[in-house]
Amino acid sequence: MSLYLKYRPKDFSSLVGQEFIKETLKKTISEDKSVWAYIFCGPRWTGKTSSARIFSMALNCLNNNDWDPCLECDNCKSFLNGKMTDVIEIDAASHTGVDNIREEIIEKAVFQPNIAKYKIYIIDETHMLSKWAFNALLKILEEPPSHVKFILATTEVNKIPETILSRCQRYDFSKITKNDIKKRLEFIASEEEIEADPKAIDYIIKNSDGWLRNAISLFEQFIIWWKISFDFIKANLWLVSSEKIEEIVDKILAKDRRILHEIKEIQDSWVNMKLLFKDILFFLRDKLIEDFINWQEKSSNLKLLNLLSEAFIKTKNSFDEILPFFIAIITFISGDSLVEEITPKKEIQSESKKPEVKKIEKVEIKEEKQENVDMDDIFSVFWDEDPTVWETTIIEEKPKTQNTNSWNFNIELLFPELKKEAGKAFLSLAIKWSETYIKDNKLHIKAKTKFNFDKINTVDNITLLNQKLINLWFDYQVKVDL
Ligand SMILES: [Zn+2]
Repeated sequence: MSLYLKYRPKDFSSLVGQEFIKETLKKTISEDKSVWAYIFCGPRWTGKTSSARIFSMALNCLNNNDWDPCLECDNCKSFLNGKMTDVIEIDAASHTGVDNIREEIIEKAVFQPNIAKYKIYIIDETHMLSKWAFNALLKILEEPPSHVKFILATTEVNKIPETILSRCQRYDFSKITKNDIKKRLEFIASEEEIEADPKAIDYIIKNSDGWLRNAISLFEQFIIWWKISFDFIKANLWLVSSEKIEEIVDKILAKDRRILHEIKEIQDSWVNMKLLFKDILFFLRDKLIEDFINWQEKSSNLKLLNLLSEAFIKTKNSFDEILPFFIAIITFISGDSLVEEITPKKEIQSESKKPEVKKIEKVEIKEEKQENVDMDDIFSVFWDEDPTVWETTIIEEKPKTQNTNSWNFNIELLFPELKKEAGKAFLSLAIKWSETYIKDNKLHIKAKTKFNFDKINTVDNITLLNQKLINLWFDYQVKVDL
C-alpha cells in the first residue's frame, strides 16, 4: 500500500492543515448546532473529501472523543470498513451521478437512517451536476428531513447555483502550508521508522509544488534502506550543491560571461540541467523575497528571475531543453533584448525576393544593440571552447535572412521530436522510408508507396509536422509528394 493511502487521515487530528475549519466543525457538533447542508470549496487535494468523511463519522460517532471520531464505536468501525449505509457518497463527475441523485436522494432521503443518527450525503465535484439534478437537490434543501445532512464538495464554487449556495454553510479550503507538509512528513518518517535528513525533507517540499500528495509520493520514492538522505537525492537526480547554485547566480548577476562555459561544463558532467535551473529559480526567488523584505530592492535580481522563469516555460517547446536558459542568461548579460530579435518571423519568402548571400561575415557580440543576430551567432558564443573567441567569431558563407537557413537543416532532428508524441511511431517510420529534401522553403517528403503517402498526408500529421518544423528551424512548410 502506498504511503499516501496508508496515511490518509481518518480523524480530525490526523488531517493536515485547515485548522480553522477543523475547529469550527468540531464546535458545531459539540454545541449541537450542525446545519443540514455544508459546502466545502477549494483547490483539489486540500482535504475536502477527507474532511467530509471525517465530519460525517464525527456526526454519527457514539463516543465523545473531543468531537473527533473515536474510530472504535460500531458506527465508526462500520464506516471504516465501508459498511456504513447511512453515509452515501455520490461522485457528480461520474455518469451515474444523475441516477444516484434520483434514486438515493429524491426517493430515499425521506426514510430514517438504518443504524446511525444521520443520513449523510457527500457529493463530490458538485459543480458537475446537471441542471435537473441541481433542481432536485434544491427541492430537498428547501425542506430537508431532520435526519438528513448534505456535504457538497467542489473545486469550482462559481458553477454552483446561488439558490443552492445560499442554503449551505460554506467552508473555503486553502492550500496546505509548507510547515504542515513538513510536520506530516516527519510524522510519517517516525511512524515508519525512517531516518530522514532535514535537508532532504526540505528538498522534497520545495519540489512538491505545495501539494501534500506530491510530497508524500516523492518522499516514498527516495526511501532507501529506511533512510532518506540528501546526498542520495543529489547523486540520483544529478543535482549540484546549493553553494554552487549561489556561485552561479552571483556570476550571472555580475555579468561574467565566462559563466556560460562553466554551465556548459556542468552540463557535460551529466548534471540534470532542468533541475539545476529550477534550483537557480528557487534560489533567486527566495533571495528576491528576502531582499524585498529587508528593503533592499534589487531590480537586476528581478530581471534575471523574470528572464529565467520565461525561459522555463519555453523549454516545453524547445528542441533543446536547456537552450532557452542560455538565451535568457545571454540576454541578461548583454543587457538588450536579443531574444526578441531572434523570434521567428513567419512570413513566407516569395521566389522573387530571394535573400542575398554574403560571403564572409564578422560577428561581434558586444554590450550594444545587435542587428540580425540569429541562433547560430548565439550558439557560437558558448559552443566554442576558447573564451576569447566570443569577440570575433567568423561565420562562413551562409544566407543572411532567417527564413532560408536551410544549410543547417537535418531531418534526423525531427525524429526525437516525433518520438515525444503519442501514436506517431508509424509517421516517423514512413518519413524515414521516404526521400526528404528542402526546396522553395518547403520540406518535401516523397513517399515511396501510396500507403505511406496516405499515412503521412493527413491534416493532423501535417499540422504536427509544421509545428515541429517551426520549433526546430523557425520555418519550412511540409509538402508530401508521391
Ligand atoms: Zn466513534
